[in-house]
Amino acid sequence: MTLSAPELVTAFTNRFGREPAGVWSAPGRVNLIGEHTDYNDGFVLPFAINRSTSVAAAPRRDRTTQVHSAFNGGSTVSASLDDLQAGSIQGWAAYPLGVLWAFEDHGARVPGVDLYLDSDVPVGAGLSSSAALECAVAVMANELSDAGLTGPELAALGQRAENLMVGAPTGIMDQSASLLGEEGHAVFLDCRTREAQLVPLDLAGNGLTLLVIDTKVSHEHSTGGYAARRTSCERGAEAMGVAALRDLSLADLPAAAGILDEETFRRVRHIVTENDRVLAAVDVLRGQGPAGLGALLNESHASMRDDFEISCPELDLAVDTALSAGALGARMTGGGFGGSAIALVNSDDADAVTAAVTVAFAAAGYAAPAVFTVLPAAGAGRVQG
Ligand code: ADP
Ligand code: MG
Repeated sequence: MTLSAPELVTAFTNRFGREPAGVWSAPGRVNLIGEHTDYNDGFVLPFAINRSTSVAAAPRRDRTTQVHSAFNGGSTVSASLDDLQAGSIQGWAAYPLGVLWAFEDHGARVPGVDLYLDSDVPVGAGLSSSAALECAVAVMANELSDAGLTGPELAALGQRAENLMVGAPTGIMDQSASLLGEEGHAVFLDCRTREAQLVPLDLAGNGLTLLVIDTKVSHEHSTGGYAARRTSCERGAEAMGVAALRDLSLADLPAAAGILDEETFRRVRHIVTENDRVLAAVDVLRGQGPAGLGALLNESHASMRDDFEISCPELDLAVDTALSAGALGARMTGGGFGGSAIALVNSDDADAVTAAVTVAFAAAGYAAPAVFTVLPAAGAGRVQG
């Protein structure tokens, strides 16, 4: 948040001429490991981060909803809840209004609301500013409508909003991390059963720092290769005769190589090996602790770069440079084609890794990356009022 909760109350009051009923907040997330596995019914291991989107809100007497965001110089969108349908809102307001639509579509009755949004989750950086926005609105709407939905139910509504109002075919990971995260923990999620377990992720206590390297290369889920990868995975599962790639194991790969075309096989191999790496990462965190994650992070990056082909030169440079400068492990994170990499470093090496990446980007003629640390933080909830 660039505005504190009291500042957000003031901003709301100045814009709408009355006080908000409260302020709700939801974090972005970093995915530690498990990329593109969510929509394959597989495993993911994200954590909620100490950057969040906040919404000040007050119910109205009518069905009108006004939503203001400071994002992109500031804009306000107004719509009647009665007019919302899948795909009816374009642009950024599709995220908040899509969540309200999803509530009503689910059978809850939401009041018209005035909303004022602010965020310090970088947009399009692979840290899920979209889920932070959806989940802040979801916890707000859950309270103001007395719907009493659980975290997993709210996650599903956020995903529906993103799939059907925004038109991005994303999975359940981002919303689950934002809603279910806890300080000092990662969220181990089985995307088939939706069972979530908290796994200790004590970075500071182990002398570790997790750096996010935002390459500033922006991605576009709705139009980019994300949807194409999803289609490849569905094709691979069908050819292999399974409901989802989650149902394949490492032992099935030799047979898959004989059945699938070369490209589809590599897409499938990424998903199968990545699911295996998530399970291994959970074991490492529960046993040796986060310092043991390095090799799994590196293998995950290589798989995304070579098999799934969702990396880009800037992400590869960030990862390679971080490793050369002493990182224990590094990988791109998020949907790919841009966004951010993460590097796990001994805290004493954080400055040297940051400097090395900055120098390497300048030498390559790339835009300066933003390098910052993130901590596993608490999930969405009410912060004031
Ligand atoms: P990511 O989730 O990786 O940041 P996405 O493309 O999934 O990237 O979502 C980014 C989009 O979410 C933005 O283009 C914008 O439409 C919307 N968005 C995110 N944060 C805000 C905000 N604070 N205010 C308005 N819209 C936002
Ligand atoms: Mg997103």
